[in-house]
Amino acid sequence: MELELIASGKVREVYAVRDDPTKLLMVATDRISAYDRVFAEPVIDKGRLLSAISAAAFTALGDRFQTHFVDVPIDVPAQFLGRATLVKRAAMIPVECVARGYLVGSAWDAYRTDGTVQGVALPTGLGFGDRLKEPIFTPTTKEETGHDRPLTPLELRDLHGIELAQRLEELTKAIYVALATWFSEHGLTLVDSKFEFGWVDGDLVLADEIATPDSSRIVRGEPGASPEWLDKQLLRDWLSEHGFRGDGQAPVLNGELIESVQGAYRQVYETLSGRSFDDWPGGHD
Ligand code: ATP
Ligand code: MG
Repeated sequence: MELELIASGKVREVYAVRDDPTKLLMVATDRISAYDRVFAEPVIDKGRLLSAISAAAFTALGDRFQTHFVDVPIDVPAQFLGRATLVKRAAMIPVECVARGYLVGSAWDAYRTDGTVQGVALPTGLGFGDRLKEPIFTPTTKEETGHDRPLTPLELRDLHGIELAQRLEELTKAIYVALATWFSEHGLTLVDSKFEFGWVDGDLVLADEIATPDSSRIVRGEPGASPEWLDKQLLRDWLSEHGFRGDGQAPVLNGELIESVQGAYRQVYETLSGRSFDDWPGGHD
């Protein structure tokens, strides 16, 4: 497979496949980011874990939705083995499509202020970590530089038109429900999740990585009032305990934090797949 690096994201490198312009190879690295900051310390195996979880999730969705996923090829350079996903190349829509099934994070902060979350009114009397009757759609912009901006339903319509806005909302909620059901079958809760969509030959397809602990909040059982996160929230919480909320000098990630992140991501993969991560391609023995 002849490859050419065409883009380098915060976590993934995107390669064009020379002999097939309709495909891309997305290579997940061990980098970790938070608050739009990429940390210098890698989380060993994270790239392979993200690839493994996302592949399992695309496989679990089967043919219920149109997606960009092709496979996790093994005929790749050795350093990419187990961390590279072959996908259909899409014209990406610059919206982060977030679905939330529970009231946590920035949704909880917004609800506490005025009872709404990005223009969606919620019943009164809800507490942190409560399950929402219906999942809500809370999209944000996907900015080239700087922080993503929350969008109300009206703003999304103004930016992308009523038809696409509606399709993004319906698809996001339906995919969230399908993945959340799959998680619950394995004793996990997909608390919230971010999706990205793009156009492939005139079709709107689910792209990017899905259901990973980088793109989602995940717990065993129900979140409740003090959730034990199995996702990147572990890093955000650790950073805020160390006085960092996105501005100024970031603390150096210590071994204990890195191990807990790695352990959580591994648990998610092994619980969802029923397999040992030791058997995933590209391991170092
Ligand atoms: P940014 O893209 O803003 O640098 P990021 O952190 O989201 O930030 P990564 O997730 O590391 O970037 O890189 C993956 C990139 O590939 C994203 O820009 C994503 O939108 C894009 N992408 C995902 N799936 C496809 C696809 N099928 N075709 C084209 N691009 C895709
Ligand atoms: Mg991304």
